Amino acid sequence: MGISRILIANRGEIALRIHRAAHEMGIETVAVHSTADADAMHVRLADHAVCIGPPPATDSYLNTAAIISAAEVAQCDAIHPGYGFLSENEKFAEIVEAHDIAWIGPKPEHIRTMGDKVMAKKTAGALGLPLVPGSDGAIDNVEEAAKIAEEIGYPVIIKAASGGGGRGMKVCESPETLGTLMQQAGNEAKSAFGDATVYLEKYLGDPRHIEFQVFGDGNGNAIHLGERDCSLQRRHQKVFEEAPSPVLSTEERNRMGEICAKAMADMGYRGAGTIEFLWENGEFYFIEMNTRLQVEHPVTEMITGVDLVREQIRIADGKALSVKQDEIEFKGHAIECRINAEDPFTFAPSPGKVTSYHAAGGMHVRVDSGLYAGYSIPPYYDSMIAKLIVYGRNREGCIMRLRRALEEMVIEGVNTSIPLHRELLTQDDILSGDYSIKWLEEWLKERS
Ligand code: ADP
Repeated sequence: MGISRILIANRGEIALRIHRAAHEMGIETVAVHSTADADAMHVRLADHAVCIGPPPATDSYLNTAAIISAAEVAQCDAIHPGYGFLSENEKFAEIVEAHDIAWIGPKPEHIRTMGDKVMAKKTAGALGLPLVPGSDGAIDNVEEAAKIAEEIGYPVIIKAASGGGGRGMKVCESPETLGTLMQQAGNEAKSAFGDATVYLEKYLGDPRHIEFQVFGDGNGNAIHLGERDCSLQRRHQKVFEEAPSPVLSTEERNRMGEICAKAMADMGYRGAGTIEFLWENGEFYFIEMNTRLQVEHPVTEMITGVDLVREQIRIADGKALSVKQDEIEFKGHAIECRINAEDPFTFAPSPGKVTSYHAAGGMHVRVDSGLYAGYSIPPYYDSMIAKLIVYGRNREGCIMRLRRALEEMVIEGVNTSIPLHRELLTQDDILSGDYSIKWLEEWLKERS
């Protein structure tokens, strides 16, 4: 039979991205939206639209009952969750499957395993991925924690088992503060995620963030599509991403990629996933796995030519992976700039009406965005309003083209991060690729 109508359980640029892949496959789309998004581009473009609730996400984009009802009423045979919202909610995935609707995502049990970072680390270790040294599982006893911290050496980082989005982490420099910080991390995790479980890990001084894109068919076959370097971060949030990483050799890429693909094959992983590592002095350290499509997936698409959303839909439809590992070629260089509706340097949110809009264009320039002139950016959701993705035959050419594209982008009426990106592309360290996860915050401090 095959998938013929997909409900897109998301909003913004990713909803549009999914709609585009679906239509290119001859599949109809159903947009669900909150009352705040009645005029959104993905709602306009979708074949059908269903309003599922008021603006707050808990009443709309996280409202499983309303979304399942919409899927039933609109006769959808599949649901794509995008990223964020319900994408890594294994209960929702289970409910979807229990309604005989194809879940365009990993098996619920794998979402569960990887969603708990303690379990994820154990699983990753058992599958042969290199780990950050730390507590072997959850820890609540301060004496025990102090012993482990002594062994691995300070500073250490206390992390929430159910953490996400860079929240629930505390860096501890010395034994005196360990007890207090563990308590604080636990409390914060409890109120943010409803789970106070924490674990301990060595705090790496100056690493890069390098992640591998993987894909499994759910039947023991898996591939990798190389890495993305997401070291440019502010408050553990990615600002700009590139592929390939400026620091990885072809041998290293193949070696780590194969380890990741084999781990996914052994697991029987289904669909798209990202295995995140910190990288320091030539060594990889697993930190977590995301069981969904990532915001930055387009840079991988640009250098491999593989449409990752199309691949997700194919796999959910019970088809085989469309490419074999030895058919995947990494060509050229791609960079993505996340454009947020916020002050470029203070980062104060800036929702409101977009008075004029002009997207950059030309060869190898891609803009993923639901913006248009006259659109009002609602204050209720994530501030990311566009992604500018640029390809070049090499990194230098990519940067030249990205500068040119940033010159062309016009978004008026609200503040955006475009001026930040323009300035970043004048910095020697960015031009040479010599930056770690600390770089951006230090640069911002100096600049202010
Ligand atoms: P989240 O799920 O909240 O995104 P991650 O485990 O992916 O949490 O970590 C997010 C970011 O926090 C990383 O990209 C890195 O910048 C920083 N980080 C996490 N673990 C460590 C560590 N052991 N040492 C240094 N920095 C870390």
